[in-house]
Amino acid sequence: MSVSAGTPDHPLRVVIVGSGPSGFYAAGHLLKIKDLDVEVDMIDSLPTPFGLVRAGVAPDHPKIKSVIRVYEKTAANPSFRYFGNVLVGRDISHGELKDRYHAVIYAVGAQTDRQLNIPGEDLHGSFAATEFVAWYNAHPEFCDREFDLSCRRAVVIGNGNVAMDVARMLVLPRAELETTDTADHAIEALSGCAIEEVVILGRRGPAQAAFTNPELLELGDLTEADVIVDPSELELDEHSQRAIDAAGELTARKNVEILREFAAREPRGKPKRVVLRFLRSPVAIHGNGRVESVEVVHNELEHGGEGRLRAQATGRHETIEAGIVFRSIGYKGVPIEGVHFDDWKGTIPNEEGRIVDPETERSIPGEYVVGWIKRGPSGVIGTNKRDAQETVDHVIEDLNEDRLPAPVDRDRDALAALIAERAPDHVTYSGWQLIDAAEKAAGEPQGRPRVKFTRVEQMLDAARVKTRA
Ligand code: NAP
Repeated sequence: MSVSAGTPDHPLRVVIVGSGPSGFYAAGHLLKIKDLDVEVDMIDSLPTPFGLVRAGVAPDHPKIKSVIRVYEKTAANPSFRYFGNVLVGRDISHGELKDRYHAVIYAVGAQTDRQLNIPGEDLHGSFAATEFVAWYNAHPEFCDREFDLSCRRAVVIGNGNVAMDVARMLVLPRAELETTDTADHAIEALSGCAIEEVVILGRRGPAQAAFTNPELLELGDLTEADVIVDPSELELDEHSQRAIDAAGELTARKNVEILREFAAREPRGKPKRVVLRFLRSPVAIHGNGRVESVEVVHNELEHGGEGRLRAQATGRHETIEAGIVFRSIGYKGVPIEGVHFDDWKGTIPNEEGRIVDPETERSIPGEYVVGWIKRGPSGVIGTNKRDAQETVDHVIEDLNEDRLPAPVDRDRDALAALIAERAPDHVTYSGWQLIDAAEKAAGEPQGRPRVKFTRVEQMLDAARVKTRA
């Protein structure tokens, strides 16, 4: 390779901001390239790595979390370093990173929620599902959230896998929660909760639901809740029928089959119910100071262009009484100072992972994205592997074609020194390993995978143990 960097004397220096799946896959791909000397630094705002694998994946899905083993192998590479508890934009700027690396890859995900823009959305008792998910997963910024679960009915708006996770978590019995790494505060709150019915609202029909087959099937196997589907809401219009009959629509076809099986079931007399409703859009959340009901309009489907069937409101309205609402209609990225951002899409503008200046429409040398901040909040964890490969291929192409800017400061220790000065409480990968070991040790006597720390201070204390000893 005719390269200006990537040799033992002059390694390619890459920093990845964000330590979730897309960031770790990008690191893994870079570190596997033959005949290329590369040094990868990873920065995360939390002391703990792994992004949504730690703070998003439902605690009752431990198998999904086992993907962490792949990331641990990447982290074991001597050319990899981790700097947790460091916030880009506060502790270190985008410009300072650019001065020290050939390439900066943003892997920051989509950290906030999309808005419904309906009256009552901000009433007390109306929450973004993203907050609830982060709360039950012990994300330190969400641990002080309070969810009043003393009502009988909850409404979950949206038909994606996050809606499935939220609905399941609301009806899992204590005995099942106690075998997981659900935050202790959430186990207490969820086990004592009064919710007997969770209504999941899809604005389109069963054939357009975004959830996947295994997640839907799980609703049929809940220990304490019957799954309820009204057969009349499963009647497909001709467009939906044609869509699921088309080749390649396996998930949608199977979803409809599963839902029909649910609809044909006699309720088994379980104490709780998860009710799936379709073709219903929320138009307002009502209540005197707090959520008391959700007003929905019945929809029909019509062609919305690009082969997509969209929900069109009819004049029929219905009111569903509920004391709590979870808006689960998708995540949204947040801007980083100094980096271009597309507000409408909630992503960083890019072409196949190369960040693009929207004004000139040209890629910016040395700036890249991977994962949800690149393509929006879609796909499963594995989707990020391919996605990161595409970006890394472009980094290497740019390196080979001499398009990468040379760092002003090439010293590997310079970044560590700067971080030590700006963020003295940063956590290295060995610090994380101490946190990990402490959490696992706390979980072991209870037969749980771990008991998660809920406070950054607790994490920092655990990470410091070795230094103190
Ligand atoms: P999602 O899959 O994009 O689903 C969002 C849902 O919200 C869709 O049903 C969408 O309906 C609906 N929606 C959007 N705007 C709406 C509005 N204004 N009113 C009513 N409904 C609205 O998002 P997600 O559930 O947040 O999941 C994000 C990604 O993570 C997905 O790729 C998901 O598969 C993945 N994930 C996977 C797992 C797992 O593998 N177990 C678990 C959790 C999440 P339309 O289709 O009509 O737009």
